[in-house]
Parts: sequence; C-alpha cells; structure tokens
Amino acid sequence: MPHLLLVEDNELNRDMLSRRLERKGHRVSVAIDGLQGVALAHSARPDLILMDLSLPGIDGWEATRRIKADATTRAIPVIALTAHAMSGDRERALDAGCDDFDTKPVDLPRLLAKIEARLADGHAQAAQTAGPAPLRVERTLQARLERLPLVHELVDEFTGQAGLAPALAHDLRLVVEEACVNVMRHAYAGGPPGDLGLALELDTAARPVALRITVRDQGQPFDPLSVPVPDITAPAEQRAVGGLGVLLMRRLTDRQDHRHDPASGNVLTLVKFLHDPPAPRGRADPTPPPPSGERT
Ligand code: MN
Repeated sequence: MPHLLLVEDNELNRDMLSRRLERKGHRVSVAIDGLQGVALAHSARPDLILMDLSLPGIDGWEATRRIKADATTRAIPVIALTAHAMSGDRERALDAGCDDFDTKPVDLPRLLAKIEARLADGHAQAAQTAGPAPLRVERTLQARLERLPLVHELVDEFTGQAGLAPALAHDLRLVVEEACVNVMRHAYAGGPPGDLGLALELDTAARPVALRITVRDQGQPFDPLSVPVPDITAPAEQRAVGGLGVLLMRRLTDRQDHRHDPASGNVLTLVKFLHDPPAPRGRADPTPPPPSGERT
C-alpha cells in the first residue's frame, strides 16, 4: 500500500483529503506544518509527499527545498498543492524542487492520476538504480596446466556477462589463473591430477557488491595464502619462491580465505568489493536525473 505524507495546516482540508485518499487504498500520514513535514519525510520515508504551499513557520516551498537537499529524502516525489491559482506559484514550486503541482480545491481523480504517475516513475527509477543482476558461473576441470584455456574461457564468459570494466577483467584473469595454477602445481603434487572446481560469482546482495572467486580441490592440504610473500629487502638468492601469486591475490582482492577439511578438501575464497559496480545488464545505461536544486 503506497504511503503518502500530507503536509497541510488547514484541519478541515487535511481530514477530508486524508480520508478520501485512504478510501482509495493509500496509507496517509499527516503533518500540520512545514517543519513537521520535513521531520516526517525523514523519519517515515513516505513514497510520496503532498505539500501545501501556504504553511505557518517554514512554508511549503522551503520545506520542499529542505527535503530535496537531504540525500535520504531527495528521491521522494513531492506534489505541491495550492489554492492560489497564480501562475507564478507553479514555477516557484518547481524551482523549489517539487515534482508536480495541483490546485485546491482538489479534483480527486486528477490528483490520484498525478500520484499514480509519480509513484510509477519512482518504481521505474528504483528498478534502474537497483544495480546489476546476480551472476554465477562454475566449471569443474582436471587440475592440469593443459586445462588452463578452460579457466580462461570461464573467466571470459563471466566478465562478458557481468559487464566488468577491462581493467577489472584483467585483474580477475590474473588472480584466477594464479589460484588455479597453484592447485595444479601443488595440491595434487606427487599424485595423479584430480578435479579443480572454479566458481565466479557477482554477489549483488552484498554491500558493496562483491565479486567472489572460489577454487576447490580434493588434493593434499595446501594453503596458497601461507606461501610467504618475497622479502624485497633480502638478497635475491634468499627470497622465497612462489610468493608472487599470493602478493597478487592480496593486492587485487579485498578478502582472502582458505580452509581445508576432509569432506570439502581445499577451498580458497577471494572476494573483491566493487565500489563502482557494473551497470545493470540488458538495459540502456540509466541517465541519472539532474541533481535537484539545479533546475532553472
Ligand atoms: Mn495552508
């Protein structure tokens, strides 16, 4: 049920309009002046605000300016209501950041149509800014260096579907290859190569959106993260061998975890948080609305 906030100082108008809107299936909160309207917009987060312009204290224009200046309430559509039929009121209301305008006494069918239109706009915008869709690809392959092309294939499939930026796709390829080569070289050392399971996931429920790499094998306990990173201050011949891949994983991902148990074998998980996630797939790039307050 849509939640409306009605900011109206006239008790008769307020009671009548809120009752009529409730009968049409809306939940209605009321504020009796501009300051209470701003406070309720913030605390109750209504889906839409009906703003009387002539209000005691701060008027409807100023209340709207404050609501639109606050990042947490900026997206809430505001429909201005005024008994003044003067054309300047409409311009001033839009200047203040109101999304629409209607006159009092209210023509309910017309106002309801405007409310529905603004709510629909809001939902469309929410869908556009919801971010990318979740994605998971996985493959099991034999843990042999000759199978690396299959790893690259899966990475390419994932980066293409996820719409990752080229630099990020490149980092991902390096890290995944390094993690898989570790398994191929070490986990099955001294025995026949077993299976390597690789999963790549775009976790869009995570905040920030997370890119998760999971590499599994049933070889001997082997923790690639325990390989010492080479000490660059040590003489070259004394530096640990094989630590560059670990350095790469630590530099290019935000979280690294390894566990081993007899049932699941080695499980290496690497997580990279995407503070600038890829655009939603299958839609045109959303054009962000101009910041409020810059209307002319
Ligand atoms: Mn009034």
